[in-house]
Amino acid sequence: MSNYNIDTKCVQGGYRPGNGEPRQVPIIQSTTFKYESSSEMGKLFDLEASGYFYSRLQNPTNDTVAAKICELEGGTAAMLTSSGQAASFYSVFNIASCGDHVISSSAIYGGTYNLFAVTMKRMGIEFTFVSPDISEEDLQKEFKANTKAVFGETIANPALKVLDIEKFARAAHKNGVPLIIDNTFATPVNCRPFEWGADIVTHSTTKYMDGHGSGVGGCIVDSGKFDWTKYPDKFPGLCTPDDSYHGVTYTERFGIEGAYITKATAQLMRDLGSIQSPQNAYLVNLGLESLHVRMQRHCDNGLAVAKYLQSDDRISWVVYPGLEGAPDYELTKKYMPNGTCGVVSFGVKGGRAAAEKFMAGLKIAAIETHVADARSCCLHPASATHRQMNDEELIAAGVLPDLVRFSCGLESSEDLINDIKNALDNI
Ligand SMILES: *Cc1c(COP(=O)(O)O)cnc(C)c1O
Repeated sequence: MSNYNIDTKCVQGGYRPGNGEPRQVPIIQSTTFKYESSSEMGKLFDLEASGYFYSRLQNPTNDTVAAKICELEGGTAAMLTSSGQAASFYSVFNIASCGDHVISSSAIYGGTYNLFAVTMKRMGIEFTFVSPDISEEDLQKEFKANTKAVFGETIANPALKVLDIEKFARAAHKNGVPLIIDNTFATPVNCRPFEWGADIVTHSTTKYMDGHGSGVGGCIVDSGKFDWTKYPDKFPGLCTPDDSYHGVTYTERFGIEGAYITKATAQLMRDLGSIQSPQNAYLVNLGLESLHVRMQRHCDNGLAVAKYLQSDDRISWVVYPGLEGAPDYELTKKYMPNGTCGVVSFGVKGGRAAAEKFMAGLKIAAIETHVADARSCCLHPASATHRQMNDEELIAAGVLPDLVRFSCGLESSEDLINDIKNALDNI
């Protein structure tokens, strides 16, 4: 489908039924698959033949949906995971282990920050966090002999910082390591990081891809462009024989376009088993079929709400990357000329207490620990996810006490704005 526009890929990518086959992606609700002989099954276990044997590693429904996301991103191979967290973990752990080092933008999702700074640190992987605004020169200084990857988010959740993907890709490649981009907020409809030099893309499909709050899931896509074989000492897991698969060398058997995802499936899924259920994969696909249409509306509503907030003097500040004059507006125009996302962050004058009262007065947007849903929702981090912090700690973490994260859904922008107006009147 590579010649088609992204809209057509959203609707029809990944699945091409044959004569008399189901029009909609079938849900293969089966843990296992039948074979005529042990030797046929043995070939699968040695990765000599491709096929399914157990849904902890691979499932046909998941692979169909992963193939669609792969086409949307313009990659060569992809896999679904049980959550966005699992995708972030696998994307790094597939190429970094105990004793290794990774550089990450500091403007990333809080869950990812915790995964890197606490949990993966306990596994012996050291992370250096850098400002997304770091100069290329200073970024260069953060690389070490044991650095294995660079990580960042296209649009950071919840800071809404836009990453200069080309700057990070250049630095990563100069040092012989891949750039991994979490593209959850922009989605491939608004930004395709591979076109700007990124090597691996991850997603929380829980957000816009599913889009209806129905299933938690993740995805990893490989661009197939990073040549691991140039750095065999850095990436021995991909470039030397895997004893757990009869000495398969992933780059030799599957090429640079298939090695990374095959290893993540054959080793990490086999051993850790964070696979998405086929039911959820089916729901992600339903979401993907309208992703291009929905993203447009999410962005229109985001911009309309951001513009309104900017004009209301009861609001102390507004961050929306698509807003003219926003700090990252130049990067936005370059990387996401057609739109960003539906999430707007802002402060209500009167601080923490005013923010809480404002949110209690909203009738359409519900208070939820969620974003990127068809239904508008909002969160006051200072009284929810960051509740344990005092005002000083919040400011140090870049989450102001009055910050409201508002995720514009697919409702009418007029109704959303009136809802916000009324809630401000009621403070
Ligand atoms: C939500 C989110 C994640 C984590 O995804 P889950 O599906 O909740 O595990 C990762 N990255 C970003 C940008 C997110 O918004």
